[in-house]
Amino acid sequence: MRPPMTLANEVPALLARMGVTLTSGALPAHSPITGERLAAIAENSAAEAGAAIDAAQAAFRQWRNVPAPKRGELVRLWAEELRAHKADLGRLVSIEVGKVVSEGLGEVQEMIDICDFAVGLSRQLYGYTIASERPDHRMMETWHPLGVVGVISAFNFPVAVWSWNTALALVCGNAVVWKPSEKANLSALAAHAMLERAIARFNAEGGKAPAGLNGLLIGGRALGEALVDSPKVALVSATGSTRMGREVGPKVAARFGRSLLELGGNNAAIVSPTASLDLTLRGVAFAAMGTAGQRCTTLRRLFLHDSIYDAFLPRLKAAYASVKVGNPLEQGVLVGPLIDQGALDAMQKALAEARAAGGTVHGGEVVQTMGGAYARPALVEMLDQIGPVLHETFAPILYVMKYSDFDATLEKHNEVPQGLSSSIFTNDMREAETFLSARGSDCGIANVNIGPSGAEIGGAFGGEKETGGGRESGSDAWKAYMRRATNTLNYGSTLPLAQGVTFDIG
Ligand code: NAD
Repeated sequence: MRPPMTLANEVPALLARMGVTLTSGALPAHSPITGERLAAIAENSAAEAGAAIDAAQAAFRQWRNVPAPKRGELVRLWAEELRAHKADLGRLVSIEVGKVVSEGLGEVQEMIDICDFAVGLSRQLYGYTIASERPDHRMMETWHPLGVVGVISAFNFPVAVWSWNTALALVCGNAVVWKPSEKANLSALAAHAMLERAIARFNAEGGKAPAGLNGLLIGGRALGEALVDSPKVALVSATGSTRMGREVGPKVAARFGRSLLELGGNNAAIVSPTASLDLTLRGVAFAAMGTAGQRCTTLRRLFLHDSIYDAFLPRLKAAYASVKVGNPLEQGVLVGPLIDQGALDAMQKALAEARAAGGTVHGGEVVQTMGGAYARPALVEMLDQIGPVLHETFAPILYVMKYSDFDATLEKHNEVPQGLSSSIFTNDMREAETFLSARGSDCGIANVNIGPSGAEIGGAFGGEKETGGGRESGSDAWKAYMRRATNTLNYGSTLPLAQGVTFDIG
């Protein structure tokens, strides 16, 4: 008799197709969809973490000598592996962190996109040529690889964020050691295996990618701390909660290492009287309920102008009431589970605090189904921006507030400690431009007529204040993975000094 088709039965076949053989051990992997145990795998030790960092450092010393466009060729092969396995990896991500199918696939597409970007970038690591004040002199900037890049990633983008970092770090000439989220180790093993396969193909075609270029550490926070504490790790790129960043940032700074922090958000949208309400409804619904509210860019605060409040809120409530919550692998479901019971408890606690602060809660009920931690997304009408509204609760809660004065609302928009993403829905050019101006949104991402989530890889991604200040992905974010040297060349036969200084030694 064939065994019943459970996720635990499906995962080994998925992993096998992606070339992953698990080493069994004590570390369990669960699916938030059913709560079932998918596997129990081996955890790396502190000694193995040290060895991976050493191997990466040795690899870096060789990799930095490979011309950047050749390094790009490795990333091109990696993108081929990802294209070939998009369906399997996307499904594994959905199974392991509970994303709906199109979002699991979208996560892998984002990996492919950043690889393509990095391949082009491998021929564009440009530095300036600078006019010198001295005759017969030339100044320029050159960009050099940094060393070992430690990547610490969060559960909610279990593989994309690593690839944002790794694609750029590799073309920039660095080696990478990755500590994925302890809640998404299987996705990490699969994604890592694809890069390993690309490395093998690259070397088979005559490339020179050294062993140790692509380290992976499976385990808990202590392995992240090993990256943070090691002076051999030149850059720590850490994505996760502000609590984590508060610990990581000062430790890396104390050893004069570099950190790139991508931390929590508390993202808002302002809906002005001139907004197109149909478009706004779709934008708000996706940004607030997508990924079950578990995106760093999830919309959490909504400021509705009082002239449209009564027209818009009932439509939003209807959208919330109609959205299907349940198994994210099923068609038509838009909201899957929260990652675990702790997340569900945190959601219920925030809703209780909102009620205590005078809020009116619509939705948010726990949904008993399939053994996972499910809840209906919650809309909370608040009289003011107080209590839980000021914090990031990593769950689908949208706090709705009424406003009348645009400038006062901009102030409120910026009042929270986080500064990741933001948006305004308006057809008033003055409001739109003000929102994007120096006195507008104080976030790293500011949008007009789209919600705050769902960024493309072409732009630099990241935020200000307690979001950590880091930028990764597109634009010139690559500069974080390199060190800059300023060079002055004298092609004359005298030695004039800058600023007219004289120093004649006779
Ligand atoms: P988390 O902070 O619990 O864990 C993130 C990672 O950090 C994990 O790999 C964990 O093992 C590691 N870690 C935790 N403490 C550490 C320490 N002291 N030293 C070294 N490593 C440590 O976050 P999570 O629950 O996995 O993810 C959700 C959070 O991540 C949310 O706050 C969300 O906003 C944030 N996030 C931010 C971005 C962004 O780009 N700004 C992207 C995704 C997620």
